[in-house]
Amino acid sequence: MPELPEVEGYARYFAQHALRQRVARVRVRDERVLAVRKEQLVRALRGREFTRVRRHGKHFFAEAGDRWLHLHFGMTGDLAYYRDAKDEPRFARVVFDFDNGAHLAFEDIRLFGVVDLTTSPEAYIEEHALGPDPLDATFTLARFRDIVAKRRGAVKSLLMSQDVIAGMGNLYADEALYQSSIQPRRTADTLRDDEVRALYTSMRRILRDVIARREKGGDWPRRYLTMHREEGERCPQCGGTIVRTVVFGRTTYYCKSHQR
Ligand SMILES: [Zn+2]
Repeated sequence: MPELPEVEGYARYFAQHALRQRVARVRVRDERVLAVRKEQLVRALRGREFTRVRRHGKHFFAEAGDRWLHLHFGMTGDLAYYRDAKDEPRFARVVFDFDNGAHLAFEDIRLFGVVDLTTSPEAYIEEHALGPDPLDATFTLARFRDIVAKRRGAVKSLLMSQDVIAGMGNLYADEALYQSSIQPRRTADTLRDDEVRALYTSMRRILRDVIARREKGGDWPRRYLTMHREEGERCPQCGGTIVRTVVFGRTTYYCKSHQR
């Protein structure tokens, strides 16, 4: 499932391949991914160029004239840029044909993805009440501290609420809590200041680390909890026991010994 680091990868891929080329044709091969009328999408993008990209949480935006294309990758969304029409992915749902003969496909096997238009990323973020992106420059420790202080729920549910922080999925929430030695059920307002700082730092470090590794095609480090998500596994950090539970309706793993 594409998480924030994967969507960052798609944004870089889009920027590297698909900017500054005139869109000659927009082909909608399956309308089920559209959250906008097909005619509207075609009319807004045909004849335009994509000029810049932006990512916010797991949402992707590309500017084209006075509109922005918005993509959400759902569970199986992906992008493919290719020259030869016979390389069109089998599950291409929307394809942009460029003047230079190249194509960009939004593919999505399971159809949980979304393709639509918005007037600006800011308008979309506001309309959908999305919280700040954890890697955005405006997401400072002071801002995070403020968010945490106001919440009484389990800290894991705070990390995963898209209206609080946009783009932290289940694995990343567990990993950030693991690396900052915080038990997922702790209520946010009981976190000490050093714990809030540790959580803020590890959350951002993990996301950046995975983005960088993903670019090089590398795997997650062995010291990460993500590599040990199994009941009874040994904790690579302290040798304790990894336990499985459910928090915020999601399967949660943590170390019984060092996460307090
Ligand atoms: Zn441990």
